[in-house]
Amino acid sequence: MKIDHVAIAVHDLDAALDFYRDALGLEVAERREVPAEGVEIAFLPLGESEIELLRPLEADNSIGRFLAKRGEGIHHICLRVDDIEAAVERLVAAGGRMATEIRSHASGTRYAFVHPKSSHGVLIELYEKAAGR
Ligand code: ZN
Repeated sequence: MKIDHVAIAVHDLDAALDFYRDALGLEVAERREVPAEGVEIAFLPLGESEIELLRPLEADNSIGRFLAKRGEGIHHICLRVDDIEAAVERLVAAGGRMATEIRSHASGTRYAFVHPKSSHGVLIELYEKAAGR
């Protein structure tokens, strides 16, 4: 297991890049809108992990509501697992609660969110990368 990415919710992606890219010196590997999830994202690799910046496309989606309620900050931490079914099964058997089912990105990467009530206040994403990536 390792940290795949740490996601930070921001109001303004350009303003956030002024800090993370220009002031901190990270490079932007990818920036795109994901209309299905209602967000614009930027990925900035950092060693074996990445920082993901998330900007809501609408005020009334989960990221928009997060920002309204809690302001900018860490939205979730993503842990890479080898077998997401096994990870979810183990977690649920131990009394953990999932926030979502296992879903798939177009790339084949599968992911699921653990409810922050189970993980002491932090939204945790589990990630199983598609083979060969
Ligand atoms: Zn994520």
